[in-house]
Amino acid sequence: MKTSFGSAASRSVVRQLAEAGYEAVFVGGAVRDFVLGTEPTDIDIATSALPEQVKEIFSHTIDIGIAHGTVLVLLEGEPFEVTTFRTEGTYSDHRRPEEVFYVTSLKEDLQRRDFTINALAMTLEGELVDLFGGLQDLNDQLIRCVGSPEERFREDALRIFRALRFSSVLDFRIEQDTLDAMKKMAFELGHIARERIKSELDKLLNGQNPCTAFRYSREIGLPELFPELFSSFERLEEFAPFRNVRHGWAAMLTLSESNPAKLARQFKLSNEEKHFLKQMEEASAIRNQRLYNDLDLYDFPLDVLEISESIHLSQYPREKAEPLDQIAARKQSLPIQHRSELAFTGTDLLQWSGRRGGKWTSEWIRIIEEAVVCRQIENDAQAIKEWFVYEISRKE
Ligand code: ATP
Ligand code: MG
Repeated sequence: MKTSFGSAASRSVVRQLAEAGYEAVFVGGAVRDFVLGTEPTDIDIATSALPEQVKEIFSHTIDIGIAHGTVLVLLEGEPFEVTTFRTEGTYSDHRRPEEVFYVTSLKEDLQRRDFTINALAMTLEGELVDLFGGLQDLNDQLIRCVGSPEERFREDALRIFRALRFSSVLDFRIEQDTLDAMKKMAFELGHIARERIKSELDKLLNGQNPCTAFRYSREIGLPELFPELFSSFERLEEFAPFRNVRHGWAAMLTLSESNPAKLARQFKLSNEEKHFLKQMEEASAIRNQRLYNDLDLYDFPLDVLEISESIHLSQYPREKAEPLDQIAARKQSLPIQHRSELAFTGTDLLQWSGRRGGKWTSEWIRIIEEAVVCRQIENDAQAIKEWFVYEISRKE
């Protein structure tokens, strides 16, 4: 564990807020990750300063969520989310009104947070503020709601997905009362925007133990409640962990009972993710007919080939498998990996044929490319020239 929290810039943000007379602490995931000894993805700061006051202190700020009290502060090229202690009062502690403002505010702020492990704060001096047993739960590797789990999931059902996400990312267990409440409130997930679910699922699929999350998802009945979205959760375990988020989505969508392209639209997959999925569908269609030939190995990226091979085998377990490392080795030993490696250009074709350019040029580049990949001609300018001149005259 590092001895002092955060980068110099993040400490400077907290210090400047304090110097201006406000309370400011580090909160949320960054504190959790610091205690766990892992790199935080982003650093959140909670402060008693109002957004306008935060903006007066720092010269570079972006209003990313003023309505929620959040200002993005840019310092030394690093972004920090600075959020005003939220005192909307819904969860305020009315029992002890005499408590000093700072404690009350920070407590209220921490109380609205989802899980005890995410409700830790840390001062600039490195003092941990742990009002809900977050440290104990971190040590026990437990995901537990702050307050009444059922109420917390009723307030915001996305937290159900956040719990699943953390179970995968941190490889933690979900505490029993929290899990029971997730099961009870899971039907509410239908109201949550797909983009928000997508962003949690991205992290879940990329986590160190997605299988834990899939098991919990089944326990709380997601495949039965939302079969059109999560029927694949029954079988995804066979393919996890995933090499990257693209793989996870491709497996999840392909194994689902509904149409992958429709799901890709619903979950608003990025163009890159949609492209990967499309390539995978094409590769799978080929693989359903036969083993990959050299040209298939050339045309599809290795990860497309690997994941479609795995999915194919899971669907037809009795078929003869081609080991993934053999696919990789065969692809690696192809004469070329990319068109740019061909020993000729379109201009050569014009010169060799004495013709004007046209659609035929790209057609012939592809014909020669295929011949090179399938080892019918050597990737050598002279050999290609001879072959091309002969073939083109023959085809006329
Ligand atoms: P990551 O490592 O992915 O950034 P995180 O825990 O920091 O994880 P964020 O989405 O960055 O998650 O949110 C920052 C903090 O805000 C959380 O740690 C938690 O305290 C609080 N939070 C975020 N979303 C919710 C929510 N839906 N309900 C309650 N608290 C939330
Ligand atoms: Mg965060």
